[in-house]
Amino acid sequence: MTRRVLIAGFKHETNTFSRLPTDMAAYKSRAWYLGDEIAKAYAGTNTELAAFMEGAKRYGWQPVLSISADATPSGRVTSEVFEAVSHQILGDIDRAGGVDAVLLNLHGAMVCAHTDDGEGELLARIRAKVGPGVPIGASLDLHANVTDAMAANADVLVSYCTYPHVDMHEIATRVVDLIHRALEGKCKPVTSVARARMLVGVDEGRTTAPGPMTEALALADAIEKRPGVLAVSINAGFGWADIADAGPSAVIVTDGARAETKAQLTELTDFIWQTRNRRTVETVRVADAIAVAQRKGRPGSPVVIADYADNPGGGGYTDSPSLLRAMLAAGLTDAAMSALYDPESAAACHRAGIGASLPLAIGGKIDPAFGAPIEAEATVIGLSDGRFKIEGPMMRGVAVDMGPSAAVRIGSVEVVLASRRYQNYDLGFFRCCGIEPRKKAVIAVKSMQHFRAAYAPIAGEIVVVDEGGGVTSADFKKLPFHRVRRPIWPLDMD
Ligand SMILES: [Zn+2]
Repeated sequence: MTRRVLIAGFKHETNTFSRLPTDMAAYKSRAWYLGDEIAKAYAGTNTELAAFMEGAKRYGWQPVLSISADATPSGRVTSEVFEAVSHQILGDIDRAGGVDAVLLNLHGAMVCAHTDDGEGELLARIRAKVGPGVPIGASLDLHANVTDAMAANADVLVSYCTYPHVDMHEIATRVVDLIHRALEGKCKPVTSVARARMLVGVDEGRTTAPGPMTEALALADAIEKRPGVLAVSINAGFGWADIADAGPSAVIVTDGARAETKAQLTELTDFIWQTRNRRTVETVRVADAIAVAQRKGRPGSPVVIADYADNPGGGGYTDSPSLLRAMLAAGLTDAAMSALYDPESAAACHRAGIGASLPLAIGGKIDPAFGAPIEAEATVIGLSDGRFKIEGPMMRGVAVDMGPSAAVRIGSVEVVLASRRYQNYDLGFFRCCGIEPRKKAVIAVKSMQHFRAAYAPIAGEIVVVDEGGGVTSADFKKLPFHRVRRPIWPLDMD
């Protein structure tokens, strides 16, 4: 008898300090696919959903494609969105006449208007629907805040091992293979989690240089080889969430419940605690980054400046103007930034047309605390519908839709203005508006780490700026935490 396996995705990394709610419009403008639309959007891509669909084919399962929803990180997910996705998944299980297994593509750090634990509640509802005998497997981002409810209601949880995240497909394949073994009666997966007393850790999960994360992953690999252990994950967590369980965790999937799991989890969380003060990336002030750009930037070997505190990948507004203001003030030449979120200015450029000059007030519109808009005369040098396909290693093949976008020149700095908030992790975020980043002397991106996937190979030098405002600054002591478990590092301990 052919097994029916439900495939669904519901992702969000929620920054509870963001004033932008994550509503239906936020999901529909990024990713909202039903049924066969999932295959059209993701088949052949370097993503979890492609791996799930390929796995179903490999094992002869009948895939029940339900829903795939994703939104750029921002504030709490509205109840309307959560109920719509939950209703779709539970309804599809009924309409299929029940399923033999469930495969979920989750992020793991979703906070909703009605619950602090989005994935925990979703998994609990699915578990209640399918009962205890149907295996549920989920892939997670390594920035997941893994809760007890998530571990209790899933049979298998496996997180990415790379940051930038380039192993989504590979990790989802591991989930598929474990679910296959469970269906064949070859194992009985049980997932356990332990959290460190920290908001942030393991070098934020970076795997681009040897450090706490790569060492923690090596320890995880060693534990994975021990008897009865099926998978071990290290989560750096997501600290910009004021919820009880925010922060780094270790997750172990075992074959049946095992007495030694608790000690293995402690071994991992102790390591995470001991390495808390080690980071492989130094962040600098804006003036220091500009100085490096002036000293070392040359066309064809650009200095890449990453705006850490305004990273849309962590919920940043993407319209903080401080870095751009400093680039303009310094009179940088052959310099470009992408992408600054400013739908009003992008629309004005589309109305004005290529070659036109017009006065713009750029950025600084969502929260004036992070800097006023930049008032400048700008020349439109590129216009685009903002649509392109990712060519770099992170999410290769996936379609991007930044909405109406424009490239403008102010002085000798070129800026891409977008109508949707996107982290810049591909050269396409410049190229779609006619700018070739390889030729520039200075490139600025709204990103804290993912940009490295595409930009490290072309960068003469990389500098990361954490100054000038943004809801993803690493200065956690300045954020108003009320709900996180206490005491917790770095708020209460050194
Ligand atoms: Zn992540």
